Amino acid sequence: MAQEDVFKKIVSHCKEYGFVFPSSEIYDGLGAVYDYGQNGVELKNNIKQYWWQSMVLLHENIVGIDSAIFMHPTIWKASGHVDAFNDPLIDNRDSKKRYRADVLIEDQIAKYDDKIAKEVAKAAKKYGDAFNEEEFRSTNARVLEHQRKRDALHERYSRAMNAGPDLNELRQIILDEEIVCPISGTKNWTEVRQFNLMFSTEMGSTADGAMKVYLRPETAQGIFVNYLNVQKTGRMKIPFGIAQIGKAFRNEIVARQFIFRMREFEQMEMQFFVKPGTELEWFKQWKETRLRWHKALGFGDDHYRYHDHEKLAHYANAATDIEFLMPFGFKEVEGIHSRTNFDLSQHEKFSGKNIKYFDPETNESYTPYVIETSIGVDRMFLSIMCGSYHEEKLENGETRVVLKLPAALAPVKLAVMPLVKKDGLPEKAREIIDALKFHFNCQYDEKDSIGKRYRRQDAIGTPYCVTVDHDTLTDNCVTLRNRDTMQQERVPISELDSIIADRVSITSLLKTL
Ligand code: ATP
Repeated sequence: MAQEDVFKKIVSHCKEYGFVFPSSEIYDGLGAVYDYGQNGVELKNNIKQYWWQSMVLLHENIVGIDSAIFMHPTIWKASGHVDAFNDPLIDNRDSKKRYRADVLIEDQIAKYDDKIAKEVAKAAKKYGDAFNEEEFRSTNARVLEHQRKRDALHERYSRAMNAGPDLNELRQIILDEEIVCPISGTKNWTEVRQFNLMFSTEMGSTADGAMKVYLRPETAQGIFVNYLNVQKTGRMKIPFGIAQIGKAFRNEIVARQFIFRMREFEQMEMQFFVKPGTELEWFKQWKETRLRWHKALGFGDDHYRYHDHEKLAHYANAATDIEFLMPFGFKEVEGIHSRTNFDLSQHEKFSGKNIKYFDPETNESYTPYVIETSIGVDRMFLSIMCGSYHEEKLENGETRVVLKLPAALAPVKLAVMPLVKKDGLPEKAREIIDALKFHFNCQYDEKDSIGKRYRRQDAIGTPYCVTVDHDTLTDNCVTLRNRDTMQQERVPISELDSIIADRVSITSLLKTL
């Protein structure tokens, strides 16, 4: 199946099974805003818990905070977001559609890559086993020509982006490459303008002179402006970290790929404050720690890769992304940045307050350097959905759709089903749920055949199903079915808790780190 089709199936699966709904759907939706349904919210909460516990429980020197979405507007001036958190935009005069100039050019680069890939695929088919891809790429005239054009474009584009960006040059590239609007098919482009991604609103009544405030575009600044409060009240010593989970808002122009790029989303960020000069060592350590956290979910190490940044933000001295293999390619899920002392120094300058750290061991004061790990909950959610979605052919010829979610993250851990809706079996099933519901999320299901009920649970990723039959009433044993292997075993009700709890708990997952 083409990867595009797989992705479409995942998106509709998310809706059909109560994971993600388009926001305001009965009013035809609101662009790039989504709601999480009954299963989605459980999965999302479990992801957050896995992250939070891996930070705050497993590290004595990391604590959490929950700062407000609204902050003093000068914070965003100091952080550089008011002046520099921009995307370059261009409009097509005929279709009146607006695009990100950088995305149009990146798509054009991808087109050259596609052309090359097609030539390679064609030749591979033609020559079969005798095909030497490396040789073909380095000798075939058409491939070489595409590659030359691609590299020249990439080089020119990088130069333009690094120069500010140079908006005139971005426009010129679009004209020279003869990029057309996908809607109107014309090259009738406006100038390129900078567009700030922050949402703003007014605080206070207009009569009092309302203040323009922003919806935070990242959670990190709430940590920076509180770092000294936490350090002093928590008697924290450097190195230490502050973690936070919360909503962030960006007026993304090109909102696409479902919950990959949203206008309202959630971040899990941790700022780690270190002594100047030690930051690159800590950067390396956090890079490894974070990748281990991702890999522990068991989707396969080949699903992850680092993407080290060549072009660094002006304040960073090292940056990398952890990318996950989505159906639409390797994509950033998390960023790890060595942000120097940029943010704290800026806040010191703009607030006029001394926010230096006093080191009791050396008796000196300094502005700490910061390593940041920043991950989007929603992107993580999407990567988990993509990694878990499987269509399997069964021995009887049927196909089952199964979400092989890491058990610790699954919305429902155990489904309990009476074989029939009579003879006291439903009551027995309820009894089991009543005993287990304090430990994990259980679901009762008595409708339809057992086979159909298994399929329903497979589709939402429930790792275990328990069937209560007539023998249960006398032997107090049930059939326990494993989602992934579909194996069934007979187990005493009294042992259910100990068999399952361990396999589905976040604690067990954390222990593998
Ligand atoms: P991108 O290059 O994809 O726009 P970014 O580099 O701007 O992302 P950061 O500012 O580093 O992203 O934010 C950290 C994390 O927050 C990202 O790795 C991503 O998981 C998440 N994130 C950022 N923007 C969005 C968005 N619009 N929707 C969902 N998640 C987002």
